Amino acid sequence: MSDVTTKLRKEDLVQVVAGKDRGKKGKIITIDRVKGRVIVGGCNMVKKAMKKRKQTDRGGIVEIEAALHLSNVMIVCSKCGPTRIGYKIDGEKKSRVCRKCGGAL
Ligand SMILES: [Zn+2]
Repeated sequence: MSDVTTKLRKEDLVQVVAGKDRGKKGKIITIDRVKGRVIVGGCNMVKKAMKKRKQTDRGGIVEIEAALHLSNVMIVCSKCGPTRIGYKIDGEKKSRVCRKCGGAL
């Protein structure tokens, strides 16, 4: 099985572009390159029942982030908003740029 290629990285600020949380922004917490899914802070929250493991655990219902498909998030450019990532090759260095304004991402 080959990994899904993505230009996104952990810590990138992304916007959700589909589903119930469309328009919400958050930072990428984890990327699953095998499944092609990301977990974005504060987005796609789901309620989950937690079991009490220790006497001190509160248990009950907690809200956690559920994974989103990579195609449902877009990187956010500080100038243009949601955009696509391009690359700029500068000698040996390859840097990520906004495809709309060319600014560094
Ligand atoms: Zn831009």
